[in-house]
Amino acid sequence: MVKDTKFYDLLGVSPSASDTELKKAYRKSALKYHPDKNPSPEAAEKFKELSHAYEVLSDEQKREMYDSYGEEGLSGAGGMGGGMGAEDIFSQFFGGGFGGMGGGASRGPARGKDIKHSISCTLEELYKGRTAKLALNKTILCKTCEGRGGKEGKIKQCSSCHGQGMKFVTRQMGPMIQRFQTVCEVCNGSGDICDPKDRCTSCKGKKTQNERKILQVNIDPGMKDGQRIVFSGEGDQEPGVTPGDVVFVVDERPHDKFTRKGNDLHYEAEVDLLTALAGGEIGFKHVSGDFVKATILPGEIISPGVTKVIENQGMPVNRQSSKGNLFVKFTVKFPANHFTSEENLKKLEDILPPRKTLSVPKGSEIDEVDLVDFDPYRHQSSSRRDAYDSEDEEGGAGPGVQCASQ
Ligand SMILES: [Zn+2]
Ligand SMILES: [Zn+2]
Repeated sequence: MVKDTKFYDLLGVSPSASDTELKKAYRKSALKYHPDKNPSPEAAEKFKELSHAYEVLSDEQKREMYDSYGEEGLSGAGGMGGGMGAEDIFSQFFGGGFGGMGGGASRGPARGKDIKHSISCTLEELYKGRTAKLALNKTILCKTCEGRGGKEGKIKQCSSCHGQGMKFVTRQMGPMIQRFQTVCEVCNGSGDICDPKDRCTSCKGKKTQNERKILQVNIDPGMKDGQRIVFSGEGDQEPGVTPGDVVFVVDERPHDKFTRKGNDLHYEAEVDLLTALAGGEIGFKHVSGDFVKATILPGEIISPGVTKVIENQGMPVNRQSSKGNLFVKFTVKFPANHFTSEENLKKLEDILPPRKTLSVPKGSEIDEVDLVDFDPYRHQSSSRRDAYDSEDEEGGAGPGVQCASQ
């Protein structure tokens, strides 16, 4: 038996609900009452309560405490006040606010947002490494007033909000008393008061200014897709906030000849039938810019689909002198029809190993059939068509599902 069912009731689940049921219930109600969807103060309050209930029940230890001792049992002291903010729980659950609108409401630790940029690189660039100079428009603290907004000693803390810029307002709504947060109307959210004549003329009291900064981004040889290059503390500056980082994320562009797997490169080489059987040369331009040449020995015999390795010709291993390997997968180009003169075929019969003779199991009935050329339009298999249809039915699939068509 649980002591109190309030949190379960809020989410509309039974006290025996599984983690999955809790998640589902929270997802449904949090989306309904999120301030961006439902701006009424009642909804905001409900959203907070829901998020708090979910925070407790989704944590095994907290849930156990709650089940045994009720809300008093939670060590966070004072129910709603402790733990994470509703917005934090929400964004942790959904992986971000509503299309970038979140964040602003978050009252987490005073650290600015990280700024992310992706930096597109070709395989050639990632092989050799490169330096990119990128201009960044950022907000910095006003250099004239050092982010104070006015003359030193002339700025007073707003007494209405105690310098917080935000305050709690209590409002009677019928039998209920609602408490919600609002921007302080005395200082307009800045948290301090300054006489207009003492205001900084450079930033007009805004405390910040814009700056264009050039960052030099070093892409080391062998860097991989998704790898991060971090400029610590280069994010936007704001009074009382630790600036976030500027993060560049390597975005490797697909190559039309090479595929990369870790430090290895993969290449598909086509050889003609004569080279495959009697030897010859293959060559191609490497991502290093060099031309790679290899000899196929006479009689080595390259079967279609066989893979050979060129050691140490893959991508550089980050900051080391060693390299990955280059895998070459062979396709064999067979000669066109003109080769099939009766005379040539006779020669082949003399050279090549004899034909395999067909063995028909005893008692089998023989069905003499025709082979026709494949026509993708006429011969599209019905099973593939079915697969396509069922994929289509799901239509606007949920988040995280990518379009499968190519
Ligand atoms: Zn104020
Ligand atoms: Zn200023």
